[in-house]
Parts: sequence; structure tokens; C-alpha cells
Amino acid sequence: MTTTECDLVIVGAGPVGLATALFARSIGLEPVVVDARDELGPGVGSRALFVHRDSLMLLDAAAPGLGREIGEFGLVWERRRTLYSGHTVYDRPERHRNEHPRSYTCLRQADTERFLRTRYAAGGATVRWGTRVTAVEPRSRVATALEPTGSFVFSFLHPCFFGRRPVEDPVTGMWSRHVNGYLAHEQRNVQSFGGHTHYHRPLSWYATSLADHGLAITGLDEPRTLPSHNRPESEWSDYERWFATIPTMIAVACHRLPR
Ligand SMILES: Cc1cc2nc3c(=O)[nH]c(=O)nc-3n(C[C@H](O)[C@H](O)[C@H](O)COP(=O)(O)OP(=O)(O)OC[C@H]3O[C@@H](n4cnc5c(N)ncnc54)[C@H](O)[C@@H]3O)c2cc1C
Repeated sequence: MTTTECDLVIVGAGPVGLATALFARSIGLEPVVVDARDELGPGVGSRALFVHRDSLMLLDAAAPGLGREIGEFGLVWERRRTLYSGHTVYDRPERHRNEHPRSYTCLRQADTERFLRTRYAAGGATVRWGTRVTAVEPRSRVATALEPTGSFVFSFLHPCFFGRRPVEDPVTGMWSRHVNGYLAHEQRNVQSFGGHTHYHRPLSWYATSLADHGLAITGLDEPRTLPSHNRPESEWSDYERWFATIPTMIAVACHRLPR
């Protein structure tokens, strides 16, 4: 058996793992990235095509010029058009298509990963392909890793409302979300973006699991689900206004429970 000491091991050479590696390097750590797949093998699961402005700017911060490089390689469509459940919720020509940072860029995930890998390799490191992590030995729990006043913040899809079908009442014309099976622990296939697995757990499960790990929820944020444009609210459609009243994401902040 061989043993390797390193600052940080990152599991997965997808966009998140590679971006994390570049950020870690930017603060002086030298991470090792491992991935179960073969270098030339296809990735399984995610196939991100759309990289947003914020992500491009973060990548620029992790490795100067990287966000611009990826932005310029990808495509920006001439028009933006968003449909939800058969309704056009947004439609306008794309302005400032060639300015950096672009508001988004479209490219294959394999190309995004190629740009990230090139930067990672430029620092003299290579991804350890064909290396599957099969077990992790926890040395500390999140609660003990936190500073006494530190907070643990994460976000996830809102279990009450995400993936719940908007339904229009044929008589009143009012919209609502159809919620069923909320208390069930489900793993279901969500059709959007070519289909992917979604894990549903009720909110109480999150609160209990956090308490089991020595954490108490001290903040909750349920942001409105905004339309994908910046027009003032007075110009929103009735559907957009209704859509914004139900959150599809939730953010949670936790602190250590007193021992
Ligand atoms: C179909 C689909 C379309 C999407 N489209 C978009 C989009 O257009 N824009 C957008 O911003 N987001 C999109 N998303 C979300 C986005 O793809 C993901 O949030 C993002 O790609 C996740 O990146 P990742 O690096 O965490 O995961 P992945 O890209 O899935 O990479 C994880 C890596 O970890 C490796 N791995 C897994 N287990 C192990 C193990 N035990 N040991 C070693 N290695 C392991 C895998 O081989 C893989 O290479 C989409 C998601 C899906 C499913």
C-alpha cells in the first residue's frame, strides 16, 4: 500500500472539483484531484451547457483570464426565450453578446472541463484518473471543525415546492402548486436538462440530521423565484408575479449547539 500526504484531496474532476482545485491553489494549497472515470471516458450524470456570468467571474478570480477564455469559446444566443410549462415567461434579444463578462455562455461540459484541466495542469499537477474513493474516515464532524462562532451555510432545492407542478384552476384562472407525497423520502427522476436524479426529504429531516451532527438552524432564507430578466416588477406578467411568490430554493445557516 502506498501512502500520499497532501494538503487537500478533491474527489471528482467535474467543473466543481476542478474549480475548487484552482481556488485552493490561489490561496496557497496544493490539492490532489482524483476521479473514478478514465481520462478519456465520458462523464456520468451532469452535462452542464450553460455557464452564467457569476460563474465566469468566479473562474476569473480563481485563475486570471479563465472566465473570459471560457466565455469567448462558448456561444451566446441571439435571443433569450424561456418557457415554463408551455408558457413563454421571457423573450428578448440578447444585448452585449460579445462583451466580457458575458451574461452567460453555452458550451459542452467536456469543453469547460478541458479549460479547467489545462489550468490545473499548468500548475504542474495532473488529475489522478481511474481512482475511485470507496471510503472516507471522518476525523472530525462539521460542528467540531467550525470555529465557536462560525456558521455552516448551504442551499438546496425547496422540498415543499421544487418540482411541484404549477396548476391553473380552469374556473378561477388562479395558479397553485400541486403538492403531494411531501413526507415521503423519494428519489425521483426530474425530466429537465435531459433528466437527472433528485433526492427529496422533508424539511424536518434536514433539521433533525443537523441536530444529530451538533448543529442548530439559526437562519433560513426562502428567496422569491425571480424571472430570468431584470425588468422592473411593474412590467412582469401575472404568471411571473405568481411564480415569484413560491420559493424553489432554500438557504440554511447553522451554528454549533452548545455542548
Ligand atoms: C443533465 C444536467 C444538465 C445540467 N445543465 C446545467 C447547465 O446548463 N448549467 C449549469 O450551471 N448547471 C447545469 N447542471 C448542473 C451542473 O451540471 C452540476 O451542478 C455541476 O456540473 C456539478 O459539477 P460537479 O463537478 O459537482 O459534478 P460532476 O460533473 O457530476 O462531476 C463529478 C465527478 O466526480 C467523479 N466521482 C463521483 N464519485 C466518485 C468517487 N467515489 N471517487 C472518485 N470520483 C468520483 C465522477 O466521475 C465525476 O467526474 C446540469 C445538471 C444535469 C444533471
